[in-house]
Amino acid sequence: MTLPKRIAVLGSTGSIGVQTLDIISEYPGMFRASVLVAGSNVERLIEQSIKHRPDLAIIADPSRYQILQNALSPFGIAVACGSDAVADAMELPQIDTVVTATVGYSGLEPTIRAIKANKDIALANKETLVVAGELVTQLLTHSKSKVIPVDSEHSAIYQCLMGENNKSIRKLLITASGGPFRTKSIEELEKVTVKDALSHPNWSMGAKITIDSATMLNKAFEIIEARWLFGIEPDRIEAVVHPQSIVHSMVEFVDGAVKAQLGLPDMHLPIRFALGDSSRLPTSERSLSITDYSHLEFYKPDTEKFPMINLAYYALRNEGNTACIINAANEIAVAAFLHGQIGYLDIRKVIERSLEKIQFIANPTYDDYVATNSATREFATSILTSI
Ligand code: NDP
Ligand code: MG
Repeated sequence: MTLPKRIAVLGSTGSIGVQTLDIISEYPGMFRASVLVAGSNVERLIEQSIKHRPDLAIIADPSRYQILQNALSPFGIAVACGSDAVADAMELPQIDTVVTATVGYSGLEPTIRAIKANKDIALANKETLVVAGELVTQLLTHSKSKVIPVDSEHSAIYQCLMGENNKSIRKLLITASGGPFRTKSIEELEKVTVKDALSHPNWSMGAKITIDSATMLNKAFEIIEARWLFGIEPDRIEAVVHPQSIVHSMVEFVDGAVKAQLGLPDMHLPIRFALGDSSRLPTSERSLSITDYSHLEFYKPDTEKFPMINLAYYALRNEGNTACIINAANEIAVAAFLHGQIGYLDIRKVIERSLEKIQFIANPTYDDYVATNSATREFATSILTSI
């Protein structure tokens, strides 16, 4: 490939997006941001565009389009708005790799379009594989796209599997910090606030994934993500609580060997690894000093306190549109929790009620996922005031 590698950053204004632009700046000549996409934060998108000079900047929220155009036209940067423009842009010839750093269901369509256009994917948006893992995996078999995970656990597993044969895998061990409520009792969980849930002990991330980490649904999503990324059956994927977040995940092999990848809890490393196409790019950034950690702990997760972890196995056993329903109900419930409309424990109730109500589809097409997502969001919204 000719350098610089041209990168589309989907969700450039968010936590992963900003760190992706850090990596692009760290290696001038190697990477270039050719397309930047934001949801509604037009001020940050303008600032990033003036610095990185992409060919195209897109704002999903059409009401911010004029501001973007006025600010970027003096720089000769093309602008667009709306979700169709985001999906269409994934086919542009001036993109080699798409970093999917948007949050939630909105990542699905552009990722599918990028795969169909044979673009490489640095996959942060785990919801894409949660919602439609089977469909996306099928599409990948007909595409030249390569998917490299950005999620730290999956990047760790990917790194552990380099030079190995996937047939030699006995188990995937996905580590979990346990989130801010690891040591709280079930009674205490009834009273936790939004501020408590947003105080993640180890990772600084966007609000939605921080709440998913507090409920540990994030770990369920990561089990589903691992199932599709690595083609491993769910009963061979386990979550392990590791409060220090230094071991990012492990693979146990058939001969009893266990490999782990370690590092600081800092997403720059997995992003750098994914952009570098799984090569080791030298960095002067701070790295792990192992003697600072004389005590690394590992526990089985408490699924009585965090029952949402089990939703992964339920969804993978049931198949069809089950995980799509869970994801959509969770997106509505988490947004409502963040707005103070429902309590922490109500998030699970919204998901369970949606699973009872929304029609199960055994072999969903893309259109079925779209319809399931809409129907679930509508239903979940309708029960928020009575939950
Ligand atoms: P943030 O909430 O910080 O950022 C989300 C980004 O997506 C923002 O740029 C936002 O724009 C943009 N966006 C929101 N809605 C749309 C839309 N409809 N169309 C286009 N862009 C949109 O999230 P994170 O960076 O934390 O997470 C991104 C993804 O990466 C998630 O799927 C998450 O699960 C995954 N991930 C994140 C990790 C982390 O450390 N943060 C770790 C592992 C995985 P705007 O700013 O304008 O709203
Ligand atoms: Mg993760």
